[in-house]
Amino acid sequence: MGYYEEGEQYFLHAYGRYDTVLDHGEGVYLYDTEGNKYLDFYSGIGVNSLGYGYPAYVEAVEKQLKTLTHVSNYFYTVPAIEAAKKVVEATRLSKVFFCNSGAEATEGALKLARKYYFLKHHKADSEVIAFHQSFHGRTTGSVKLTGNAHYQQAFGPLMEGVKYATLNDLESVKALLTDRTGAIIVEPVQGEGGVNPCTKEFLQGLRQICDEKDICLILDEVQCGMGRTGTIMTYFQYDILPDIVCLAKGIGCGVPVGAFVANAKFAKAMEPGDHGSTYGGNPLVTAAVSTVFDILKKDSIVENCKEVSEYLLEELDKVVKDYDCVVGHRGLGLMQGIVLNVPAKKYVQALLDEGVIVVTAGEKVIRLLPPLVITKEHVDEFITKLRKVLG
Ligand SMILES: *Cc1c(COP(=O)(O)O)cnc(C)c1O
Repeated sequence: MGYYEEGEQYFLHAYGRYDTVLDHGEGVYLYDTEGNKYLDFYSGIGVNSLGYGYPAYVEAVEKQLKTLTHVSNYFYTVPAIEAAKKVVEATRLSKVFFCNSGAEATEGALKLARKYYFLKHHKADSEVIAFHQSFHGRTTGSVKLTGNAHYQQAFGPLMEGVKYATLNDLESVKALLTDRTGAIIVEPVQGEGGVNPCTKEFLQGLRQICDEKDICLILDEVQCGMGRTGTIMTYFQYDILPDIVCLAKGIGCGVPVGAFVANAKFAKAMEPGDHGSTYGGNPLVTAAVSTVFDILKKDSIVENCKEVSEYLLEELDKVVKDYDCVVGHRGLGLMQGIVLNVPAKKYVQALLDEGVIVVTAGEKVIRLLPPLVITKEHVDEFITKLRKVLG
């Protein structure tokens, strides 16, 4: 029996997996158990921004592994404090809560928004506005925020009080507002839903609505944050600040960690005992977070992302012109969707066979989430293989 068959025997079949079994990574390449090499243009779904085996990262995590890995949140640890300072400064917000995943970040953010509403209205009946085609996680709370019936239908009853508006349509949001609206949650660039960026007018419009009505604006930057779109937080490109931002994926570059970060006004609503996590922000993962921030800065990774993405966009423009099945591309920085007029799955498999790993987003979009450390040569390699597969 091969590795793949063995996996199929023992794993719950919650995923449709490729039959490639991965073994190790080096730089921006992955290798399978048979020695085949793959150019990584998905980073474990936008997680491994530094690629594989980045020396300063490995060194910092290894050192922490030998020093202290876990203590619970009854105690502070130095790596956690250092990471907290860096997250708060980078987001230009006030207080952070570390958790273990993106879903937990969105759950925690929603709890904080609800607590604020509760203190103000003395009742726990707040509503939240989310968006069609959004993605916020798979727990019974976060999956309700996820505006995609396919992920929800078998798992009810789910959390109450969620309404869905249409991205980039402010009127659709206004139509759902009530006296009970406590939060609006949105991805500045929808990831799973097809790589759909918010327009500036729309996100600024949401900020204005939330300011006027004292509603909590939660930005889910689990996928688009941490430099992926060319700025450390995507919302800096929109000239707004959220009340709470959700982070995960790229914040740990491979160790399981998430966070939500709140401004002073909302942070004040949380009191000891309101929320918790056994592992959340343990010294091992926060040492990783801390070193990720240091590396991004010291090695100008976000600047590299911006520069290489401009080159990628020029090349994608040419691809759009050359192939009838490619309708366009959209996204920000190194979070790009190649929009096809046919299902994308076949091309994703063909690229894998050619030695390039990408993912889909929605049915007809090939999603590119390469490590932020790629060079123009890697873009050339990708484009050559993409053209071969499209042709
Ligand atoms: C991946 C993702 C999540 C969920 O993160 P998990 O770590 O899988 O729980 C939430 N929001 C967005 C925008 C995501 O891309």
